[in-house]
Order: sequence, then structure tokens, then C-alpha cells
Amino acid sequence: MHLIEQIDSWSQSHPGRIAHISGDTTLTYQQLTSQSNKLAQHLLTAFPNDHSPIALLGHKQTEMLAGFLGCIKAGHPYIPLDSSLPTQRVEAIVRTADATLLTVDQLKEIIANTDVPDNFKIHAPKIGNPWYIIFTSGSTGIPKGVTITRRNLENFLEWILDEQDFKEAGEVFLNQAPFSFDLSVMDLYSSLATGGTLFSVSKDEIAEPKKLYKSLGSSGVTVWVSTPSFARLCLMDINFSEKMMPHLRKFWFCGETLAPEIASTLLERFPNAEVWNTYGPTEAAVATTSILITKEIIAKYRPLPVGRPKPGTLVEVHAEDGQPTPSGERGEIIIAGPNVSPGYVNQMEATSKAFFILDDQRAYHTGDWGHVQDDLIFFDGRMDFQIKLNGYRIEIGDIESNLHTVSNVQDAVVILAMKNERADYLAAFVILKSRPEQTDFEIMREMKKQLGERLPDYMMPRKFVFLSEFPTTPNGKVDRAKLAETLQ
Ligand code: AMP
Repeated sequence: MHLIEQIDSWSQSHPGRIAHISGDTTLTYQQLTSQSNKLAQHLLTAFPNDHSPIALLGHKQTEMLAGFLGCIKAGHPYIPLDSSLPTQRVEAIVRTADATLLTVDQLKEIIANTDVPDNFKIHAPKIGNPWYIIFTSGSTGIPKGVTITRRNLENFLEWILDEQDFKEAGEVFLNQAPFSFDLSVMDLYSSLATGGTLFSVSKDEIAEPKKLYKSLGSSGVTVWVSTPSFARLCLMDINFSEKMMPHLRKFWFCGETLAPEIASTLLERFPNAEVWNTYGPTEAAVATTSILITKEIIAKYRPLPVGRPKPGTLVEVHAEDGQPTPSGERGEIIIAGPNVSPGYVNQMEATSKAFFILDDQRAYHTGDWGHVQDDLIFFDGRMDFQIKLNGYRIEIGDIESNLHTVSNVQDAVVILAMKNERADYLAAFVILKSRPEQTDFEIMREMKKQLGERLPDYMMPRKFVFLSEFPTTPNGKVDRAKLAETLQ
């Protein structure tokens, strides 16, 4: 069955079941189908014979879900954009994808003012057509749009629905990640495909722990989907335990390293819940490997493994010559299979650099170091300047390129400061064109203001250090290690 038909089928079999809870607002499956049909009808009329992307700008509002499905039903891929993104970044994304932008307020208006005729028919994507485009940080300063086709998404879903054995119309999925990150696809579509309820926590709730715990406590969440960073934050409160969330039976992580102490504390505090680690880049549709983390696994491995490949997908660790490395030896993690994206939208060069063909399958260079041991894949860090900070994927080059557009910046280098082997904060080292009659604090404030017009908050350096020159390595490159040492 086409995924969109599967989702719509819940409005027939369970019309009153809640599809989405966001703050005080709920949306039933019947409302989801009706609202998405209205949006599709509007798009079909406004853009006949057009399949160009639609960028949807909002946060966790229920209309966003209706918007995603409305685009799909009208044959348009959608680009989820979070309202916390600065305008210039939204504009850059819309330009790169050649997309039409709709805000959540416009979605509300369309839903209120559109009638759906009796002969309404959905124009959902064929198997190889794009379903969504998710933009990630790009090293040149321009975000890269990863196209995910219906085949990619359905292939991912087939695997996890089989592996995770969710109850039909019985689960409540936590949605922590903004819809603009592919981690949210894990909860969104697992929920919609199984007639589940998506329980969103907003960024305002996350910023206020008291509100957050209250909300989690009354959520009825059965499946927790988040970055390990978010679980770490929640574990800071001793009351975050089975008593607070008695229905929780699964923690499902992706996106960054799952530290053994987080996994073991969760198993202690939630003795009836499973902890899963999954791994994969946006370019290979959310996750590609998985493993159930047991006490035995925690006792045996440091770091924890990221698991085994999903069936039908090849995950190998390659040496520089493109051949698989022997067991235990480090190399680049390569992914090949039906979940691998066709590439970055309108960015041929970046696409041909990262994607290739392996054994007749579409393949992706993850840029991740890894090794295989006991038939398990292990993640050993990045080969380049891509980092994860609080679960967010960031290209250091993206921040540096944007820093170079700030007036009075001659040169800039950004370093990720580490604490106890964990990513802590970003520091910008800047050489100014000329030294104004201002304090460092005043200069930094002005820089942050200008940079904030281009970069989201999570990419903003916390610390600025002004230098007259950078230390260099013997071959004349900026000595990043030396700069990092100054942050210890
Ligand atoms: P994203 O596209 O935001 O999902 O980021 C993908 C990158 O996050 C991967 O290439 C890895 O560098 C990192 N990553 C994803 N999952 C894991 C994991 N389970 N453990 C360690 N790193 C991960």
C-alpha cells in the first residue's frame, strides 16, 4: 500500500484517534485527512502540473503535519523549516531548492478557506519521486538539501516497523527534534504509519524544565525518540524515571554517540524499557543500523556499537583504496542500498562528491570513521569538520563562511571545545580588519548580532577570541589543535 493511503486508512478505521498532540492542541486522524486534503486541493489548484518543492515554515503546530501530507497528496515534496531559523537562512534554502514558501499561518488560512470537491483525487508521488527535502549544514555556508524519495522513506519504514513491532493504533511517540531535522522522521512516520499518537514537545517547553517534566509526565509516551543529548538533559532530574513516565517501554536513539553511562542510567531508572541505539545520516533516510543495548553490551563495549545494518542495505568500512578493512581496523563507513538519497537538491558538485555506485546500488560516503568488530559497526568520529553539538549536525565551515561575511572580520576559525570527551561549546577565533574603540564584549555582541541574521542559534559560537594572527603548523595551515588547547 502507498504510505499516504496507509496513513489515511486510520481516519477510516480510527477516525477519533489522536494523531498529534502539540501543547493544548490535538488533531485526530479524521482531521488530519480532512485538513491535508484541503491543502492538497489548494496546491493542485494554485500550482497545476507543478511538482516543485514547497517549504513549510513553522514549529510543532498540528497544521505542519497536515501541511506535510497535503504537499504529498498534491505531488510536491516538502521542505520542513523550523521557525527558529533566521530569515536569511530560510531565503537561502528557498532559493537553493527553487521552492514556494508557506508559513504555518498561511496553512491555517488555506485550511479554513478551502472546500474539497467530491471528485477530489490525491496525486501522491510515484515510488522514485521525492517525498521530502531536509536541509543540513553545508561546509560552504550554504545549506545542503537532502532529497528523500518515497522509496527511501518506505524502505526505512518497512525495516523499523518490522524490527520494532509497534502496536497498531496503540503507541504514543515522543517528538523532540524539530521537523527540520531527520530525527523527527523517525517518530513522525513511525507514528503515522501505525496509527500512533505523536506527542510533540516545543522548544519553549524544552527551555523550561519544570514545564517539560510536567508535560512528559502526563504524555502517556510509550516510545521515546530523541538525541542522547536530550535524554542526558532529562536525566539531570532525579525524578525522571519510570514513576514519571510509567508507560514508556522503548528509548530509541539516533544522531550522535550514545554514551554507556546514559544507557545504563536509563536501564536503571526505567527497568521495563528497552534502549536502542541506531545510526545513520540524513542522506540514507534517518537510520541504517540498529542494536538493542543490553547490560551485557554495556559491560562488553567502549564505545557502544551502533549495531548491524538493516536488511537489504550494505554498510561497510572501507580503507582508502575502497576495499573493506579487516575486522577491527578503522576506515570510512559506506552505506549502499535503497535507502540512499538521490543527492542534494540543485547541488551537482556536492552530490557527485558524496554519492557513488557500489555493487549496482546507490551509495554514500558518510565521512564517518568506523570499524567492524564481532559483526557490529562502531562509530569512531568524523573524518572532516562536521560535528554534532547538542544533537545538531553542524559543518564548522558553515559557521566560518558566514563569519567571513560579518563586517570587520578578516579571518575566522571555529573550534569545538570539548569537556570530559564530550562536545561542549563553539569558540570563534577572529582576526579583525581593524581594531575599533570598543571592548571585546562590545565587538562580540555586534558580531553575534550580524551572525544571528544568517545562522540559527544552535550554530552560534558561545565564545569569541580576538587575535592578531593564528598559530600555524609547520606546513603553514592554521594550527587548530593549538587553538583548541587554549580553551582547556
Ligand atoms: P544527521 O544527518 O543529522 O542524522 O547526522 C548524521 C551523522 O551523525 C552521522 O554521519 C554520524 O556522524 C552521526 N551519528 C548518527 N547516528 C549516530 C550514532 N548512533 N552514534 C554516533 N554518531 C552518530
